[in-house]
Amino acid sequence: MRIGIGYDSHRFSAGCKLVLGGAEIPFEMGLVSHSDGDALCHAITDAILGALGEGDIGKHFPDNDEKWKGASSVTLLKTIVDLAGSKGYEITWIDCIVIAEKPKLAPHIEAMKQALSKAGIPTSLINIKAKTNEGMGFTGRGEGIAAQAVCLLGKAGQ
Ligand code: MG
Repeated sequence: MRIGIGYDSHRFSAGCKLVLGGAEIPFEMGLVSHSDGDALCHAITDAILGALGEGDIGKHFPDNDEKWKGASSVTLLKTIVDLAGSKGYEITWIDCIVIAEKPKLAPHIEAMKQALSKAGIPTSLINIKAKTNEGMGFTGRGEGIAAQAVCLLGKAGQ
């Protein structure tokens, strides 16, 4: 059994879509990134990579590589879920936190879980929590969104 931790954050900007956990969320701003800025997907991807001992998301999908410009983070996540499978591991459990002052994310958690299932993470094996930061720090000031994830991997078929 292996455990991994992941963290990511992205800055808000007007004129782009807000995508979290693969779900598009109605809001007046989105998150700036080389990819689609999906901080939750990136945190989960890094948690799985941590459990695999395979470095981090930047090693696998360099942000100076045009190939990943505007890429769907669910697609990147699926690549890493498949990598875990190829190494004989399956996801036992994922728990995550999205920290955002706005918008309210609780109504979108089921949509996120459904979207993440397209990356090969069953909805029954992931928990997503949405929190504010009580007005403190960059998330509290509404400058961006942060996400944290932990992933437990088990040997496949055990
Ligand atoms: Mg990121």
